[in-house]
Amino acid sequence: MSRANNPQLKSWVEVKPGSDFPIQNLPFGMFMTSQMTSRAGVAIGEYILDLAVVAEAGLLDGIKFDKKDLSRPHLNWFIGSGKKVTTAVRERISDLLNADNAELRDNAGLRAKALVKQSDAQMLMPVRIPNYTDFYSSKEHATNVGIMFRDPANALLPNWKHLPVGYHGRASSIVISGTPIHRPKGQTKADDAAAPSFGPCRLLDFELEMAFITGKSTELGESISTAEAEDYIFGMVLFNDWSARDIQKWEYVPLGPFLAKNFGSTISPWIVTLDALEPFRVETPVQEPEVLPYLKFEGKKNFDIYLEVEIVPENGKSKTVSQSNFKYMYWNMSQQLAHHTVNGCNIEVGDLYASGTISGPTPDSYGSMLEISWQGKKPIQMTDGTERKFILDYDTVVMRGWCEKDGVRIGFGECSGKILPAL
Ligand code: MN
Repeated sequence: MSRANNPQLKSWVEVKPGSDFPIQNLPFGMFMTSQMTSRAGVAIGEYILDLAVVAEAGLLDGIKFDKKDLSRPHLNWFIGSGKKVTTAVRERISDLLNADNAELRDNAGLRAKALVKQSDAQMLMPVRIPNYTDFYSSKEHATNVGIMFRDPANALLPNWKHLPVGYHGRASSIVISGTPIHRPKGQTKADDAAAPSFGPCRLLDFELEMAFITGKSTELGESISTAEAEDYIFGMVLFNDWSARDIQKWEYVPLGPFLAKNFGSTISPWIVTLDALEPFRVETPVQEPEVLPYLKFEGKKNFDIYLEVEIVPENGKSKTVSQSNFKYMYWNMSQQLAHHTVNGCNIEVGDLYASGTISGPTPDSYGSMLEISWQGKKPIQMTDGTERKFILDYDTVVMRGWCEKDGVRIGFGECSGKILPAL
């Protein structure tokens, strides 16, 4: 466990109770302001610590890496320098922000340059994402979908408990939180229609997911074992895998989702490091039947991360529609990465691997409107008197996630997106 995780640590930067970003978190992101181009930053309370400024002042001189990597368009170069570097930078930042450390605290000129109010900054995509994979690793979600669309008696397909099912998604249309998404258009076909028709999606949905970002690459032909996997995982973000259910239903046979998914996916801007999540490890649920040897693992590989989804209609009367937890995942990230590379598939720095919709055991913990409204059969009542089966134009979907223990809250900030009418 890193010294930067000590629950006793306090920062000289004010961190309000309930903040996602205490000194024990220190997630990495990319930002810009009206005065400055893109640069790397670390969130602390309501501020961003500008890493380029901190490096320029010589405060990171003890750590060997190219300081220019902190003012490139994305974090790929920085996180690609390896965990030895990124962990050392996080620990050094922890020292610099510590209440007892005067280096930055008592240097008013530098402090004014290095600390930027989050409200004055625009967050940017933290990484350029070369490849994106979406898994399907929540047993509750896969079971719910199986019950709805196939056979309640055999809801899980025969392969599901033997391998982490996944597919390759579209990296180019992943956007940062706050980016509006237009309702997609496409082909749909009603069950009783003779032919498909074309028009705006009518069953637009969110999928509550988390994703990990890799910080280390492999060569084609190499595999990563479950024991090595976490060395490749830099950190995690919240992920909304927007889904057009009517388009999906018509197009997905036999190769899986295509245009129902690739019109846009949203990530939260701060990458919370695995280092910061260390205190929140929990056991993976029991896997029965026994998995093949390359999927076996040792230790606590799941993480206890509370998750929630809120729908905010145009009039602002929001409603929390789901409260779930990342700990429910049947397949853990180490197994996902081991499976992904067991055939020799290479991974790249900045790749994004999403969990699949994270549903818990009860209807209030389901991670999509498809499940929450049970295909539209059980609409939910909004606080403004309207109801929702799926997402309407001008609705904003906000996802939040955090871990909490010993009075320390490690949060992910927001993953938010507003739906605009079809173009
Ligand atoms: Mn998904």
